Amino acid sequence: HAKQAGRGLYHFYLPEFERDAGQLLAIEARIQEALRLRQFELHYQPVIDLDSGMIVTVEALLRLADSEGKPIPPAVFVPIAEAVGLIGKIGEWVLAEACRQQHVWQRDGVPIPIAVNVSPLQFRHRDFATSFRRILESSGAAAGGIQVEITESAIMDNVEAAVEVMRQMRELGVKISLDDFGTGYSSLSSLTNLPIDKLKIDQSFVRRVTQNEAAGRTVTEAIIALGRSLNLEVVAEGVDTLQVLDYLKRHGCAQAQGYWFSEPLPAPELLSRCLERGML
Ligand code: C2E
Ligand code: MG
Ligand code: MG
Ligand code: MG
Repeated sequence: HAKQAGRGLYHFYLPEFERDAGQLLAIEARIQEALRLRQFELHYQPVIDLDSGMIVTVEALLRLADSEGKPIPPAVFVPIAEAVGLIGKIGEWVLAEACRQQHVWQRDGVPIPIAVNVSPLQFRHRDFATSFRRILESSGAAAGGIQVEITESAIMDNVEAAVEVMRQMRELGVKISLDDFGTGYSSLSSLTNLPIDKLKIDQSFVRRVTQNEAAGRTVTEAIIALGRSLNLEVVAEGVDTLQVLDYLKRHGCAQAQGYWFSEPLPAPELLSRCLERGML
């Protein structure tokens, strides 16, 4: 019975696995095992202030390897975890682990805020705010030490409920970013009423700003202007060349993230990298 429902979900959410149900089941089993054996990891990627060149925050990015140690991309396993109902458990682990790391950094005198990604399914769950508060408050992470990234799709099908959850989070000192901004369908008027702190420009636009087509530049410049008029921080994602970085600086983008500064790394390597490059 439940299996039947499960299959329906796979079919609905994951058409790309239609011909390879075996691989899907293998990844589901691997997710279960990694949760049980605590084999997920978080890597951290810095977000840089473009005026000072210094680190502002880091984004926590979830890592999972298959049984042979080969990485499974989050773009593959996160949708599967969502479809089979495991994203809530994973999200709780991510938050707890980020809080633990934040506490360690705090103790060691490097109080860098950590942003965690929250799945729309996790965000819309009725226990999300309660569970989030419980994990945060029992962790010893500093107020303001944890931030969250959500996409427009987490908010738009029930804006009122989402705003209430966001208010509760901000009362805990948690800053909220709209991730992959520019790819969703929220109207600008609904955006002006959201209790958010930052817009993260999707890398599909950022990467194209130096190419010979208007789309990347038009959207990027519009989001920078929107951020300025709504008094929101703006972060460009996926900055991996000096040309893109120069463009963003010339157009008044305040923060950036991408391989140009650092790829996502385990916590100790991330600190060494930032020290080496004078970003910390
Ligand atoms: P995202 O939140 O938009 O994360 C940014 C992605 O861009 C990361 O991919 C990062 O490694 C990649 N990236 C950063 N800089 C560059 C660059 O300069 N060039 C290129 N080509 N890529 C860059 P990653 O780690 O594969 O994660 C992909 C997505 O998976 C994330 O997109 C996020 O939506 C999701 N994800 C990752 N970790 C978590 C998590 O803990 N929970 C949830 N729910 N989703 C997660
Ligand atoms: Mg993100
Ligand atoms: Mg993003
Ligand atoms: Mg993304």
